[in-house]
Amino acid sequence: MTDTIHTCSYSCGRPACMNAQRAELLARLDAAEADAERYNTLALYLISTRTDLDDAIVASESKEALDAVIDGATAQGVKP
Ligand SMILES: [Zn+2]
Repeated sequence: MTDTIHTCSYSCGRPACMNAQRAELLARLDAAEADAERYNTLALYLISTRTDLDDAIVASESKEALDAVIDGATAQGVKP
């Protein structure tokens, strides 16, 4: 696929480039929306009276670890 897509800008009109750029933008939008939802959940937790996730949040040493704590709680249906 990389053989048919050249390095270009978003003004390129080649269908293959437009499709690749659209897919890239949709992936970036999905990631941004997931982050926004994740951090909204974290904010609601932090202003709540709950403390059950405190230790895991404090122990998180990276963004990915913190994301996993929030995603894990969300997957278990835990809502602030
Ligand atoms: Zn192009």
